[in-house]
Amino acid sequence: MGLGDVEEVLRRDLWELGREAWSIRAGLYGKTTTYVSSMVLNYTNVCVIECEFCPFWRRKEDADSYSLSAEEAAKRVLEVDRKYGLRQVLIQGGINPEIGIEYFEELFRAIKAKAPHIAIHALSPLEVDYLARRERMSWREVLERLRRAGMDTMPGGGGEILVDRVRKEISPKKISAETWLRIMEEAHRLGIYTSATMMYGHLEDERDWAEHLYKIAELQRRTKGFLAFIAWNYEPAGNRLGSRVKYPKTAATLLRIVAAARVIFTGDAFIPHIQSSWLTNGPEAAQLAMYFGADDFGGTLYEEKGAGGSA
Ligand code: SF4
Repeated sequence: MGLGDVEEVLRRDLWELGREAWSIRAGLYGKTTTYVSSMVLNYTNVCVIECEFCPFWRRKEDADSYSLSAEEAAKRVLEVDRKYGLRQVLIQGGINPEIGIEYFEELFRAIKAKAPHIAIHALSPLEVDYLARRERMSWREVLERLRRAGMDTMPGGGGEILVDRVRKEISPKKISAETWLRIMEEAHRLGIYTSATMMYGHLEDERDWAEHLYKIAELQRRTKGFLAFIAWNYEPAGNRLGSRVKYPKTAATLLRIVAAARVIFTGDAFIPHIQSSWLTNGPEAAQLAMYFGADDFGGTLYEEKGAGGSA
């Protein structure tokens, strides 16, 4: 599917698009919807990237900034596991220059030593790039070390919209679209499965949606390393970008993007799972999205603190 075809899919009548997406989803999974018992570990809110859309980051000197030690962070995971029974921990946080690769190695090993049943879904391409520059290593070396310490899969955070014109407006200090894609490719080549994400409803337009989906499909065609695609709408409250977004998108946009993703990510660009994000869109819209091609409800997300898009 070329870029023009992706644009055409996105422009289709919403009900017809939804019907097609439903029939693909029903053929794959019937009416079964999956979810995972998971928690989010936001290990620090100190972040030097300071994205315009993110309400989570703090400067180190702010009174409410925090950074958990690896020991505290592992303890928190094990406590939540005892309480709810976890299958996955999503580890994400800010880009804090005081945190190096050993921190993550210690944390992952501590979790795996006590709770090997918990899959570690950790660190976005942004964090991998930051660690590579901090430790003077290649992306591959960083990924190999993290994997040896217990990382199982990598989330797709920081994808937002993979168009640099948009990225420069919403998070000027973040990695480029190409870097995000190249780190994903490196992970896939090492056998690390990842997810792909999309945050829409801010300064982008529909052509940018198409370019974003097209770039993900192109990479998937070559690597087959994306296990899931997750789209969510930008939340205008509590961040600097909010005043520039006059008309936030509604659930109808979620349904259009979910359905388009199901149709686009088929054939040789097949991504098995299309997730609907209940956290930002609300459980009802997420349920409706199941009839528009989504098949996965994501995680229970115990402890989520709203770490925007780094991870
Ligand atoms: S989205 Fe991530 S990288 Fe951006 S400011 Fe928030 S925590 Fe930092």
